[in-house]
Amino acid sequence: MFDQIRAQLPGWVNESRALAVHGRVAAYIPELAKAPADALGITIMGRGGETATEGSHDLKFTMQSISKVFTLLLALMDQGEEGVFAKVGMEPSGDDFNSMLKLELVEPGIPFNPLINAGAIAVTSLIKGETPARKIERILRFFRDAAGTNELRINEAVSRSEAATAHRNRSLAYFLKDNEVLGEEIDVEELLQVYFDHCSVEIDCAQLARMALVLAYGGVDPLTGRELVPRRYVRIAKSFMVTCGMYNASGEFAIRAGIPAKSGVSGGIMAIVPGQYGIGVVGPALGRQGNSTAGVHLLERMSAAFDWSLF
Ligand code: GLN
Repeated sequence: MFDQIRAQLPGWVNESRALAVHGRVAAYIPELAKAPADALGITIMGRGGETATEGSHDLKFTMQSISKVFTLLLALMDQGEEGVFAKVGMEPSGDDFNSMLKLELVEPGIPFNPLINAGAIAVTSLIKGETPARKIERILRFFRDAAGTNELRINEAVSRSEAATAHRNRSLAYFLKDNEVLGEEIDVEELLQVYFDHCSVEIDCAQLARMALVLAYGGVDPLTGRELVPRRYVRIAKSFMVTCGMYNASGEFAIRAGIPAKSGVSGGIMAIVPGQYGIGVVGPALGRQGNSTAGVHLLERMSAAFDWSLF
């Protein structure tokens, strides 16, 4: 299969890269606007760590919303399902990722799911650690374990840039605090700093593919045999990726590609072919719903060619 993938990949990447012109690099976090709009890169990794790579796969980008999958897993390990689902729902919202709408509609004011910003901020508040620094240290440790490298770092410039312009996330977080979704002990500004930091973890396609691979193999890193996450929690995360991972384009992506995936506003997409591959993609130009236009096209193309759809 890898030979086939390697043979087809250059043509597909070229074809999909042309779609970048229909997208735009996110600019609401000013530092992200510096990303190359017409880039497209991909790494596909198999169980032995073998890879197929193409395009700008060496480009560094920040995880942004992709990090929410892993903070959800860490929160599940810290608090169990009951603890997490007391604070966040299990349903797609059908709204933009940073929407303020509908927050009041779910009883008792909890966000729809852990992958929209409001839900992710609530999830981050559940991660254990005596201080914000300790929390981010634990998050980084977990991300590094999953990526199989100690090289993952926070891009401080991106984190600062987001913090300086996060009026909407700040509003969401204070609203959650007012609704007592965030615990009494939670300082909203400190919590937001942890959230901006985990969104700003810098990665490349191969590192992201390795993180995806751990999820593709049910939480056990196939390269080391080490269990990083209980299988049941990985199942929860994958379910959210299918229903909410591409925001309100998740339905269309499920029909066209049919694999669990999570996008971020930096243009990254993490995708999983369960039991087979972990995939990292980057294409900074985004479509209307906040997903990489070229990246989505490439994944849909590959899934169709190799019959990856779970459905
Ligand atoms: N850090 C970004 C934000 O909170 C993450 C959003 C995203 O990647 N869709 O706005």
